[in-house]
Amino acid sequence: MSSEPLLEVENLTIEYETRQGPLTAVSNADFTVGEGEYFGLVGESGCGKSTLAKSIIGGLDDNGKIASGKLKYRGEEIQDLSDAQLNEEIRWKEIAYIPQASMNSLDPLQRLSEQAIEIANVHTDLTDEEALTQFKEMFEVVGLPENRIRDYPHEFSGGMQQRAIIALALFLKPSIIIADEPTTALDVIMQDQIFKYLDEIRGATDTSMILITHDISLVFETCDELAVMHGGQIAETGRITDVYDNPKHPYSYLLQRAFPDIRYPDRELETIEGTPPQQFGDVDYCTFANRCPWAEEGCRDAAPELEVSDRSAENHRASCFRSKEIFEQQDPDESLAAIRGDQA
Ligand code: ADP
Ligand code: MG
Repeated sequence: MSSEPLLEVENLTIEYETRQGPLTAVSNADFTVGEGEYFGLVGESGCGKSTLAKSIIGGLDDNGKIASGKLKYRGEEIQDLSDAQLNEEIRWKEIAYIPQASMNSLDPLQRLSEQAIEIANVHTDLTDEEALTQFKEMFEVVGLPENRIRDYPHEFSGGMQQRAIIALALFLKPSIIIADEPTTALDVIMQDQIFKYLDEIRGATDTSMILITHDISLVFETCDELAVMHGGQIAETGRITDVYDNPKHPYSYLLQRAFPDIRYPDRELETIEGTPPQQFGDVDYCTFANRCPWAEEGCRDAAPELEVSDRSAENHRASCFRSKEIFEQQDPDESLAAIRGDQA
């Protein structure tokens, strides 16, 4: 059932140097992305998604560093590779990264064809002509007319630019595409379209995808597996079906209920009070404790480990001290209603 691991994120902790001291943006993140798999990385703004994504291609901001843990691509450690090695071996042709707010990532002064040729020149031995042929193919995959590869970005609509960016990411046939909030800047209709194309890419290539978004319902629709992040910690990870049917962490439980669900059209949407915290120094507590309806004092005394939480699904893991109590020994809907009732 499990495919060969393409990317392994092992106990990864990432810090930013700030004036208030080291800020821990990601702590002990741990998950695996398999060959051909679509993996969703989901959580509110500020929880560490982009930081984690950027670390994978060696693209952290200058004040950021991997403090501990490992990144493995096809079994090889890549967390210590130099910029030159990453350019030579990884970026674009193995792992392509579509940055957040990528509308601004196209060079307005260069034709798309020129941008593709430049990428090919840095990362491959392809001739310009071969590069263009390959780029044209990808234009077709994302539904853009190939006679427009010489256009400038401004000649495209927003949705077409986004598709061109996806074509560039696909262009050197990477094994993994990391798409960081690929549709956040687009309207709902364009979002649907882009997701249709991302889905078609699945049919046309065997690329894996790490889809980063704050919208857990999109991940449920699009992906095979997911990791839910809160405050730099992985709250829960596993196969979509397991997490959807059987959440084991209060944050993923509440996040799921913060978005409309066709199974429960009448269900009231949850709001999760408060915002994800910024963590300075060692994170030796559950970062969700201050927002969690079920939290007890002990939740602030140590960081919960990401543990197998579901006897029927080995890779379904959650990091919550009280997971068993909340989700197995009682009905979470009822206990939440009771807690809310007591508070009211
Ligand atoms: P997300 O993508 O989930 O919105 P980010 O990875 O962008 O989250 O940010 C995670 C945390 O790291 C936030 O608290 C953010 O303010 C902080 N952060 C991001 N980049 C930097 C930086 N260059 N320096 C200091 N803090 C940063
Ligand atoms: Mg982000």
